[in-house]
Amino acid sequence: MYLTIQGIVLRVTDYNDRDALLTLLTRRYGKLTVKARGLRRKNSPLAAACQLLAYGEFTLFEYRGQYTINEATAIELFTPLRRELTKLSLGTYFAQVAEILSQEDMPSPELQSLLLNCLHALCRLDLPEKQIKAVFELRAACLSGYTPDLFGCHLCGSQSPERFDLSAGQLECIHCRSGESQGIRMPVTPAVLEAMRFICLCNPKKIFSFYVGEETMEMLAKLTEAYLTTQLERGFSTLDFYKSLFL
Ligand SMILES: [Zn+2]
Repeated sequence: MYLTIQGIVLRVTDYNDRDALLTLLTRRYGKLTVKARGLRRKNSPLAAACQLLAYGEFTLFEYRGQYTINEATAIELFTPLRRELTKLSLGTYFAQVAEILSQEDMPSPELQSLLLNCLHALCRLDLPEKQIKAVFELRAACLSGYTPDLFGCHLCGSQSPERFDLSAGQLECIHCRSGESQGIRMPVTPAVLEAMRFICLCNPKKIFSFYVGEETMEMLAKLTEAYLTTQLERGFSTLDFYKSLFL
């Protein structure tokens, strides 16, 4: 049986001397592992569309639950981000997170749109990488069921809480002590909080339409990263590599 899907290449793994396995993020089927025959040979017609982070249309042949690529056409290669190591590394981190958050046979149209939007954003010159990273991390967390409670201090309801509890995903004033959570708290300012609310609640098309100063951006990016890794209870080799580029 043949089927045609559009997907983003999240990972490319060598299968043998000639073939490779691709992990794709698709709207309809979620995460999908497909075999790319002959991809490792020189001049493979599949080469362009099967690169890491490429978005393409794939015609697949399905036999007993195994998929093989019959034809692949690149829709968007995100060429500008391939020219800069930091942007490429950040995109690779997004792909690793998307792979962890997506599941086979579970449609993920929103996660796919978010990843596409963020890869497009990395190709733009006018957006700071920190902003794109914060948007991806927080929005991906929300899409995967880890939406933080940002309405106010969870104990007294105050609208100007000073801390964010990474494990509980909730806000707290410095004077309100919660005995329930022993998790790590990070400081938040009203500007960071406003940006977080925007990212969690805005229309997906407007996701980068906010501006914050450098200091706020720094705090926001640290917080979204810490929140995502705390909620998922893991680190990411691709994130470590991205951060090592700034040491
Ligand atoms: Zn309070």
